[in-house]
Amino acid sequence: MGRRPHFEVPEGWVARGWRFEVETTTPDQRTLIAQHFGARRFAYNWALAQVKANLDARAADPSVPPLAWTLPTLRKAWNQVKAEVAPWWPCCSKEAYACGIADLVAALNAWSASKLGRRAGPRVGFPRFKARHRDHGRVRFTTGAMRLEADRRHVTLPVIGPLRSKENTRRLQRQVAKGRARVLSMTLSEQGDRLFVSVATLVAQAPRRPSQPDARCGVDLGIGAEWAVVAHADDRIERVTHPAPWAAVQQQRRQIARQASRRIIGSRGHRQAKAKLAALDRRAANLRQEAIHTLTTQLARQYGTIVVEDLDVAAMGRSMGRRAFRRSVYQAGLGQVRPTMAYKTSWAGGRLVVADRWFASSKTHHGCGGYHADLRLTDRVWVCSACGRLVDRNANAALNLRDWTGPVSDRAVQRGGVAAPVPFVGDHGGQAHAPGVGVRGPVRPPQVAGAHDTRTDLSSRREEPRTGVPVGGQSLNVR
Ligand SMILES: [Zn+2]
Repeated sequence: MGRRPHFEVPEGWVARGWRFEVETTTPDQRTLIAQHFGARRFAYNWALAQVKANLDARAADPSVPPLAWTLPTLRKAWNQVKAEVAPWWPCCSKEAYACGIADLVAALNAWSASKLGRRAGPRVGFPRFKARHRDHGRVRFTTGAMRLEADRRHVTLPVIGPLRSKENTRRLQRQVAKGRARVLSMTLSEQGDRLFVSVATLVAQAPRRPSQPDARCGVDLGIGAEWAVVAHADDRIERVTHPAPWAAVQQQRRQIARQASRRIIGSRGHRQAKAKLAALDRRAANLRQEAIHTLTTQLARQYGTIVVEDLDVAAMGRSMGRRAFRRSVYQAGLGQVRPTMAYKTSWAGGRLVVADRWFASSKTHHGCGGYHADLRLTDRVWVCSACGRLVDRNANAALNLRDWTGPVSDRAVQRGGVAAPVPFVGDHGGQAHAPGVGVRGPVRPPQVAGAHDTRTDLSSRREEPRTGVPVGGQSLNVR
């Protein structure tokens, strides 16, 4: 078990995730896909049962030898018994079982690292058995006949066959065809009744430079009407508001949620209202994603240094005040900005600096040093006691962040600050699994995280360098 090895992206390549919504091409594919999701879950539960039985046996009698929680061991054990416990196993790709076992190994490693205090973030519990209604259907392929078809409209997976992509796959397919991108894995997953294929790749990428390598900007994020306020290098203050349709979507959402709550659970009307609600939530999430990507891409391409606040979004959402406030914290996607900024700055050759959590960016008057101790969250402007001028809270905070010169802590680096972290091997629990994966080249990485990456929208404009998938970053902070 021990520490999970970190995956190093070879020099000149960047790890990159792609995501395409797909639909089935033949009627029986739906069944086949459901079988694969089930097969993955079955293997996961089977392996968990082995581990649990072994732990229980060892608790009763310490002389029982421990079962190694590694993918090779568990896979070997699975192959020995699969004809007995799952006589239907030839129906599905062997990757479905391997994926379930690998995910369990990852979960066990996370649990054990968390217990030993070697893992940041919230405590991780012991893995639980997956039930069909609770498990989110997915299966990952790392070998076999998986490819992007040359028509740029289809993605082929082993056993399941071709799936039609709703989006043109050109940006990735072209690079794969030219040998500039290597597919590491493809993950088929469902969300609601939609199917997605996430492709983890390595893409060849020359180092880049931002257009103003020596310039700095500061970004102050908020939950009010001004979603983000940027202090540019030339003292220009840019105020980024919520996306235009945002308010309308939120309004509709309230209305439909009320409808849903008034309908009888299980009725057709309730189902319809729930479906509408899900569609609105998806729309809101897409709008938010778009806003985050637009902001981060634009800044990362321009500035050598971007300074953001160390927001504790988890704490904000957990503890502070009214429900409406907590909801708006999550809806504003504040926690997503820094990780996104972290990998984009590393792609673009800049750096992200995370200002200290206790830096009073809102309370100090930029350029004069006047301090306003009892600033409340609702105060949009305040009067500086030192110079008597009216201070705009958000613009002032952004300027303070831009000119922040404090030390950069190691913690910030670990959590997606300055140095871009390398992607971490999440999916296979650090086990070198199925080397090759159609990868030919100097380095054969085991795998790469990023299968759940949804950053296909902005990349349409230009392929972007990516040296890392940010790790952690879920605990940020407010003042
Ligand atoms: Zn002042």
